[in-house]
Amino acid sequence: MKITEIEIYKLNIALREPFVISIGKYESATNILIKIKTDENHVGFGECSPLVNLVGETQETEYEVAKKLSAVIKGKNPLAIEDRLADLEKAIPGNTTIKSAFDMALYDIASKEAGMPLYKFLGGSNSREILTDMTVSIDTPNKMSADALKFKEEGFPSIKLKLGGGYPEDVERVKAVRSVIGYDLPLRIDANQGWDTITAIKVLKALEKYDIDHCEEPVPKWNNKALKTVKDNSPIAIMADESVFDHKDAFRVVAMEACDYINIKLSKSGGINCALKIIAISEGAGLKTQVGCMLESRLGLTALTHLVAARNNIVHFDIDSSLMHSEDPVVGGIKYVGNGEWKLPETPGLGAEIPQDFLDKMEMTVI
Ligand SMILES: [Mg+2]
Repeated sequence: MKITEIEIYKLNIALREPFVISIGKYESATNILIKIKTDENHVGFGECSPLVNLVGETQETEYEVAKKLSAVIKGKNPLAIEDRLADLEKAIPGNTTIKSAFDMALYDIASKEAGMPLYKFLGGSNSREILTDMTVSIDTPNKMSADALKFKEEGFPSIKLKLGGGYPEDVERVKAVRSVIGYDLPLRIDANQGWDTITAIKVLKALEKYDIDHCEEPVPKWNNKALKTVKDNSPIAIMADESVFDHKDAFRVVAMEACDYINIKLSKSGGINCALKIIAISEGAGLKTQVGCMLESRLGLTALTHLVAARNNIVHFDIDSSLMHSEDPVVGGIKYVGNGEWKLPETPGLGAEIPQDFLDKMEMTVI
């Protein structure tokens, strides 16, 4: 099998409300969708979502980088995934978010060729209950409480609060949310690197009584030593997110015993191939993992959910971005059945695609 052509699209989807975290604000999903075509009629779909403040890529940089990456693998065998990913890495280091779209499309083709849904191709089973949390943007305590209450009433089984503002305002946010939603739902928090070490420990100690599952990325991502200091002094479990992009980062935080969990995102790892390596390292260290997303549509989230069904080490699911979108152009793929629950399809490959008439409205190029 050979790759004959690659189409690159700027996939723009408005959000129902701006998504706000401690280091950025996003009005819409400005994603990239790629279609890898082959000489055997298989087409692979891949999507990525660059949150510039987190990954250092934008839709514009990715669009350009995708052209170069496409030229490197055109004419080659898409089923040799390791070799193709090595081609991409050799051509341009970094740029993990756009690479994740290529990785996803290659896995789509390979599992279609095998005649299996991707989770089965990866050795998984479709028997797990996959319940996502729902994320509340950082805002005033009143607005965050109102959003959390709305999500509770919509049936989500757990709620994630974006924090990272500082002390005491982050404590006020959580206090307000708990006073409105009560204590029957798990709460997770995410500082997105917004605290320094002392503030992190102060906030986390003050939050102990509010029954928090875990806290993502308390301090700047480069500072694993600070992450360990926070973890050693926190009554709340610490999850590494931005500090772990790939398996090498995972090895470093594991070796330092700097966290209790690792959050895997395809946009950070460069896709499924490296995500599997992060999971292996986590398992070897006795750590459980979460999967998370940026602002992917249901197509990117479908790939992520196949990964969940393939690896039991993933125990927390933050698979909520498409629920924030004002429209859903994806056909097939995971189905939202309410109360936070996603159901995976049994269609070969990802089982998800975006119809051409929707893509025809987007800026595109062909390599
Ligand atoms: Mg996070």
